[in-house]
Amino acid sequence: MILIDGKKIAAELREELKKEVSNLKAKYNKVPGLTVILIGDLTPSQIYVRNKEKSANEVGLKSDVVKYPDSVEEKVILDKIQELNNDETVSGILVQLPLPKHIDKKKVIETIVPSKDVDGFHPMNVGNLSSGYESSVPCTPLGCYLLIKKIEPNLSGKKAVLIGRSNLNGKPMAQLLLKENCTVTITHSKTKDLKAECLEADIIVAAVGIPELVKGDWVKKDTIVIDVGINKTDKGIVGDVAFEEVSTNAKALTPVPGGVGPMTIACLLKNTIDCFKRLADK
Ligand code: NAP
Repeated sequence: MILIDGKKIAAELREELKKEVSNLKAKYNKVPGLTVILIGDLTPSQIYVRNKEKSANEVGLKSDVVKYPDSVEEKVILDKIQELNNDETVSGILVQLPLPKHIDKKKVIETIVPSKDVDGFHPMNVGNLSSGYESSVPCTPLGCYLLIKKIEPNLSGKKAVLIGRSNLNGKPMAQLLLKENCTVTITHSKTKDLKAECLEADIIVAAVGIPELVKGDWVKKDTIVIDVGINKTDKGIVGDVAFEEVSTNAKALTPVPGGVGPMTIACLLKNTIDCFKRLADK
């Protein structure tokens, strides 16, 4: 079984991005800039944002974090986004989710200009992705896609089963794999026989949020299994895949932690650089 080392692959990607930033600096005399808006004091959000900022600095991006208290008015956030939309030094804007209840997530996402939407959540980017056009792609599925391609460069004709249909993970993942000519099945909480679906799969991507849902006897030999789940349990952080059991069958498997997580942040940096390049080319 191949243990897919997301930490190592993400570090390699960051090295490539660092070189790219240096080339962009030489060409345009400026570097891509990422601005993160962080609202409130949720600890996981603060940790994510700190890691994003650290990684952005490491590859040479200009990185800013704008912080607001939980009580901030929606209008203040929308005005700030408009200001960043018009700021030429900002290539990518990310509003860290979740948001406080009084702030409308849809409004926030739709206020970010699509060309700076590094999360790929704007309906314009969602539509472009599903139409097969150039777009920002949500960072986690993009990271999963790059991991799968490392193991199997030619995905044409492969059967992919995605567990979970969220806008964040399952749906964009489906678009990426369809583009690679996979036959894609998207499963969810109302799927009748998840085990039977998984047993058909050459590729499984589990993004559910249920600890160790995918068992060893759900996976046929030679399946690539990508575990997106991050679940806090008594025995620590575990994924949506029963790692020990599945590792005896799978062709390749991501660990949790150290699999998809590091790729998510590296892909955020990649998206920021891609936004910069698209804006610079215009
Ligand atoms: P989400 O929005 O809650 O979506 C979960 C999906 O799983 C839904 O589509 C749901 O179906 C489906 N589901 C629930 N129970 C199921 C079952 N028994 N069988 C099959 N499908 C089932 O979650 P998310 O935001 O996509 O996140 C999923 C997991 O990934 C979480 O553990 C999260 O922490 C993790 N995550 C990790 C990263 C990373 O960087 N590694 C990034 C993002 C998220 P319905 O649509 O029918 O409700």
